[in-house]
Order: sequence, then C-alpha cells, then structure tokens
Amino acid sequence: MPSLLRPLPSCLGDLGVAALVVPGTVSATEIDAMFRNDRGLRAVVVEQGESEQGESEQGESFGLLTRDHLEFMLTGRLGYGRALNTRRTASELLPAVGSSMAADLDLQSAAQAVLERPEYERYQDLLVLSATGPRIVTVSDIFAAVSAQFRHASLHDPLTGLPNRRMLEEHCPDIGASAGLPGVGILFIDLDDFKSVNDTYGHRTGDAVLTEFARRLARSAGNHGSLMRLGGDEFAVLLTDVDEDSAFAVAAGILDSLEEPFALDGCELHISATIGLALGVDIIAEDMLAGPEVLLRHADGAMLRAKQEGKRRIGRIGPCQEPAPFARQAHIRRRLSSAVDDSALTLQYQPVLDLATGEDAGVEALLRWDDREIGPVAPDEFIPLAEHTGEIRRIGAWVLDQACAQSRSWIDAGTPRNIAVNVSPVQFAGGTLPSEIRAALDRHGIPARMLEIEITEGTAIVDVPSVASQLRELIDMGLGVALDDYGSAYSSLAMLRVLPLTTLKIDKAFIRDIDSEPHTATIVRGLIQTLNAMGVRVTAEGVERQEQLNILRDLGCDTAQGYLISRPLAPSEFRMVIERH
Ligand code: C2E
Ligand code: MG
Ligand code: MG
Repeated sequence: MPSLLRPLPSCLGDLGVAALVVPGTVSATEIDAMFRNDRGLRAVVVEQGESEQGESEQGESFGLLTRDHLEFMLTGRLGYGRALNTRRTASELLPAVGSSMAADLDLQSAAQAVLERPEYERYQDLLVLSATGPRIVTVSDIFAAVSAQFRHASLHDPLTGLPNRRMLEEHCPDIGASAGLPGVGILFIDLDDFKSVNDTYGHRTGDAVLTEFARRLARSAGNHGSLMRLGGDEFAVLLTDVDEDSAFAVAAGILDSLEEPFALDGCELHISATIGLALGVDIIAEDMLAGPEVLLRHADGAMLRAKQEGKRRIGRIGPCQEPAPFARQAHIRRRLSSAVDDSALTLQYQPVLDLATGEDAGVEALLRWDDREIGPVAPDEFIPLAEHTGEIRRIGAWVLDQACAQSRSWIDAGTPRNIAVNVSPVQFAGGTLPSEIRAALDRHGIPARMLEIEITEGTAIVDVPSVASQLRELIDMGLGVALDDYGSAYSSLAMLRVLPLTTLKIDKAFIRDIDSEPHTATIVRGLIQTLNAMGVRVTAEGVERQEQLNILRDLGCDTAQGYLISRPLAPSEFRMVIERH
C-alpha cells in the first residue's frame, strides 16, 4: 500500500529540476555547444543584466532558452539563421514572450494556465522561479502531478489523511492472494459510543476526536502495518508478518493509547474503542479468492461480538468458532450503504382497520430490503445496524419520500389512504426532522393530516426534551404521532407523560395473550381507558385471530392491525381486504 507519509507535490515549485543558469552575455555558439555536449539538457536559464531587462518583455532577471528555440533560431526558416544569429548573446536570443510561472501556484491552476496557452507554445517547458533558484518544469510533470493528486484524493480520507476502504479494495489484490498466509491479519477498530460524542458535542468536536484518534493510532500501530479509515468511526490496521500474540499486542497498544483523555475545546473526553482481530490462517481456502474484503469482514464480525460482550476490548473469532452470525452482521453493515443507491429498498403497506366502523383506517409503511449479495434482510435485523452506522438517516429520508410519493399516487387514483411511517429515534438527532417531513409533504403535495409517524421508544432516545419538542411541532403541523410497540421491552409509563402523542400502538406480545390470559385483557382495558381519557387513540398490533379482534372491539380499542386483517402488501397487490371484516 502506498505510504501516506510521502508528501505529494502541491505547487509548481515542488516540481521539475534545478536549472543550469548562464550569464546573458554568453554567445549562441557556446550555448549550442552545451546542448551538443549534453543530450539530456532541455533548456538553460539565462540570467539577464539590468540593462538587458528593458529589452525583455518578461520584466524578470531570468529567461528560459530551450534547445528547440535555439535550434530554430540557428536554423531559421530560410536556413540563414546560423549566419544571422551565432554572434548574438543568450539574452538576445530569448523568446519575446516569457514562459515563467510563480513557484507557489497550485498545480490545478498551473494545469489550467497551460491549457489556456496558445497551441504553438502549449507544450513548452516552463521556467519556475522558486526560493531555491530557477527550476525547469515540463508540461507533463504538471499533468502527472495533478493526476497523482486526484488519485490520492480518491484513495484517502480527507479528514484524517489515512487511506480509505477503496485503497484496500482496489490496490491490495496481493493481500487477497496472501489472505490465507499465516502472517497477514486485520484489526477492525470501532470507537465506542462515538454517536453520542457527535450528538452531545457536535460534529466539529466529533471530527477533532477522529483526527486525534488517527494520530494516536499512527503512533501506536503505524510501524506494524498500514492504517485505514473505513468510514465514520471505523478504522483498520492491516498487519503483515504477525502471529496471534503480536497482533494482540498491537491491538492492546491501541487501547492503551486511549487511556489518556482527549483534551478538546476545553473539555476532557474519555474515548474507548473495541477491536476485532482476524488472521489469514482463519480464512478458509474458497474465501481467500474473494480478497481482503473477507478478512475485513471477519475482523468486523469479531469486533461486533466484542461490543456485545461489553466494549473496550479485543475480540477474536478463532478458527474453531462459528463466525457466521457476526460475519453476516458485518456483511449487512457494509452492504447497507449501497441499499438506497441500488434501489434495493421497497415499502410494503399493512392495512389498519377501524374497529368501530369496520372501515379502512389507513396503512403502515414497512421497509423491505432485498440485497443482491445477501438476499432479503428483515428490518428487525438491519434497522439496528443502520442506526449504529448512521445510514438510517439516508434510509429514513428515502422512506419518507417514498411513502409520500405512494400517498400521491393513491390520491391521484381516487383511493386516498392515511399512511403511518416508522421513524428511528436517530433521525431526531440534529432537530431537523420536522422540516425534512414538511419538505417531503410539500414535494408531493400531501396534506399533513394524511401522515402519521411511529416512533419506538428505545434506549436510543437520549435527548428526550428535544424529541418531545419536535413531536409537538409535528402535531402542530397536523401530523399524527404514534408510540410504537408499547408493552414490549423498552416501554415505560414515563414516556406517556413526556412525549406528546396522538396514538399508542400496543405491542403484539400483549395482543397475543389477550384471548387466553384474563390479566392481559385487564391491563389492556385499563390502558385503553387511560389513553381515551388523555385523548390518545389506541391501535392493537399483531391481531391474528378473530377472538382477539372481538375482545379488542369490546374493550373500546380504536384500530387494529395484523395478519387476520391483512399481511403487509406491495402497492401493486393492494386491494381492499378490509371489507371482509
Ligand atoms: P413495527 O413498526 O411494530 O411493525 C410491525 C411489525 O409486525 C412488522 O414487521 C409487521 O410485518 C409485523 N406484523 C404485522 N402483523 C403481524 C401479525 O399479525 N403477527 C406478527 N407476528 N407480526 C405482524 P416488520 O415489517 O418485520 O418490521 C419490523 C420492525 O422494523 C417494525 O416494527 C419497525 O419497528 C421496524 N421498521 C420497519 N420499517 C421501518 C422503517 O421504514 N423505518 C424504521 N425506522 N423502522 C422500520
Ligand atoms: Mg410501526
Ligand atoms: Mg410495532
């Protein structure tokens, strides 16, 4: 992997070769002899005296005399050049128009200036006056350096300057071939709770943490392998020539480097990381052909498992262990970033029944992902991973837009339906969700009252007052706001008090037993009465049997949803199955 330490040329003064400088009084014959004696000499720089400068249009004390120009002068168009010019001095032979550029000119501007030169002089060498003396720079030097700059930018992360994932994928095919070799290993490093650093201190501090971490990583692991930033808070170290013990030692050194708190913007942040280790020896033969990606995925899987075991540690999935579930999670995480671009996401819509009237009360939009590498993945599996990587923001924006587009086509078809959309608590961070929803509604011309958002109270609601004020803003806009999965692991009565709501959805775990356990029915009755008194509507989820539906209707539940009424449907197979009930 190319070293990140070799600095790339950034301006004209960094290019070319130091020029041979001759006094302006040297004769044409002498310079002609110099060119004849040294076939590699392309040009000389002519130093002009005070008096000569007036005649030169360059207004500089140096001029560039190229081999081509001298030959042209000495030959002349009609062959009399030699007779006319041999007695003239170097200064007198300089071309009327200078070809010098400033040494501090950046390379892209220099390339632009070259392209703007007239055709006949476009490819002429340039004289660059740098602090260390005049230099001769060829046009191809400039374009080669610009191309190297572009290449570097596409293979490196702009924030930390470290190589990026593309560098590993495109430029390490040899690692693929050697992935099974004993000495190759990858450390996959993920900062712990980095999302809360961003949420609490803002992105600027988040960026500073990443830069400082990259610096510490380079110090503790830089000598042992090549560093990469894979994206977000994920880094990797590609190790060559390691065994299990030495790889663990490098990983331990990285964790040690985090012992000292990060001093940023006047506060001290304690940052920890979790590391997954995979060694080439663990990779089975068929996987080796797939390249470094497989080794990385194993290391990612090991990291995820270590996180589950409690963060701030080093995980290793050894040769005898089953990497499958973690490798799958790692695979899903990697593929998630292309889900939106690959058009691999779709929405299905599950009808909701109004229990009092027996009419259609709308639909809930449910996300489906069919990845071309992994196949269909259930939302319960990929949404938590998308929340971890932050990809949920892009996915969530797509869901909102898509649901509004569907709403528009139902309105146009004369069958308008209210749509409920699930929103992750992560989408509330930053406080822009209400304006994003407003924009999606406006884009498709959908009245706010036709949209409801469903929020699941998870551990992810960190900043409750901010979420509450955004929900209030949405309700004031006319949207419905539902608390989803109430009665499942996370729900608490406290949330009913602090979050403004229009609907509460009772989780299917409760509905499951409602026709067999009298206590469950009693709890649900109490809940419905309380919510009715608060003016909050109640939806029952996961209704699968007619008896459940009858009980819920008797208890005064407003709406119901479940396989009994309809499974989630693709828009194309949408028909009103609700009339049956
Ligand atoms: P949810 O919002 O509570 O959605 C209801 C889930 O219950 C859906 O699972 C649905 O297919 C399933 N379901 C519906 N009726 C029945 C039934 O009668 N019996 C049983 N056993 N299940 C039923 P699904 O589609 O797999 O979605 C799972 C969860 O993933 C959703 O739970 C929701 O929390 C999340 N999710 C789905 N789509 C999105 C989305 O666009 N954004 C976000 N952030 N989360 C989503
Ligand atoms: Mg839902
Ligand atoms: Mg639910």
